[in-house]
Amino acid sequence: KEFRNNVKPNWCPGCGDFSIQAAIQRAAANVGLEPENLAVISGIGCSGRISGYINAYGLHGIHGRALPIAQGVKLANRELTVIASGGDGDGFAIGMGHTVHAIRRNIDITYIVMDNQIYGLTKGQTSPRSAEGFKTKSTPEGSIESVLSPLEIALSAGATFVAQSFSSDLKQLTALIEAGLNHKGFSLINVFSPCVTFNKVNTYDWFKENIVNLSQFPDYDPTNRIAAMNKIMETNGLLTGLIYQNTARKPYEDLIAGFQPEGLARQDLKLTSDEFDKLLSEFK
Ligand code: SF4
Repeated sequence: KEFRNNVKPNWCPGCGDFSIQAAIQRAAANVGLEPENLAVISGIGCSGRISGYINAYGLHGIHGRALPIAQGVKLANRELTVIASGGDGDGFAIGMGHTVHAIRRNIDITYIVMDNQIYGLTKGQTSPRSAEGFKTKSTPEGSIESVLSPLEIALSAGATFVAQSFSSDLKQLTALIEAGLNHKGFSLINVFSPCVTFNKVNTYDWFKENIVNLSQFPDYDPTNRIAAMNKIMETNGLLTGLIYQNTARKPYEDLIAGFQPEGLARQDLKLTSDEFDKLLSEFK
């Protein structure tokens, strides 16, 4: 309850993003966070509004730049739990360079992508997650580009936590966000989140018929990176569950602790009050 605020989301009725908002709020409460311990940083797009809908620190950044901001927040104040969030266009098109390098850097943040396979805010153009042949105003004859597989890219970039879920499966999604928040390092959680207004192909029914839940494979080992890659490819990227986790690799913050033991927010600047005011005045 404490992560709810009074701001009414202006998403379309039925948008998958509502469930993701609820899952983040539940997961944050379930892992024992307080609002003052959490920062939610978002990019641009319908999903980018999420930072204003959670009762926590929030910053609605610029297009494709949620991750650079989120990494800066975490390094400046390592006591904060940091969630970055945005859509597939935000994270896998304009922001893809940041996504890959944030994955390999392994700073302890949780990145939740609301993947609706289309650009919703700009009224329905083809995104990197749209399938070949997908028709929109930007590809009236059907997309001729191959679809991008964020899970395969994450694994090959050295990800330590890769999960995927569906906004309708609130129980699984909440559990995966909790696992991501508890993971020490960068966690990627890609969430199928239907855009009911512009994407008439990848609907709730389509996902229910096509996604493959990892619970069907009781012998699956999420610590085996090669098995994870194979399973993603076998299921055409429609796998849901905890796909891969590596707890052996230390997060970035631990690796720099020897020469930078704490973030800027906790460093003693050794300035008098007058000197501090003078420093701040330079930024006015
Ligand atoms: Fe959701 Fe699509 Fe509406 Fe945006 S346009 S709020 S993604 S349903």
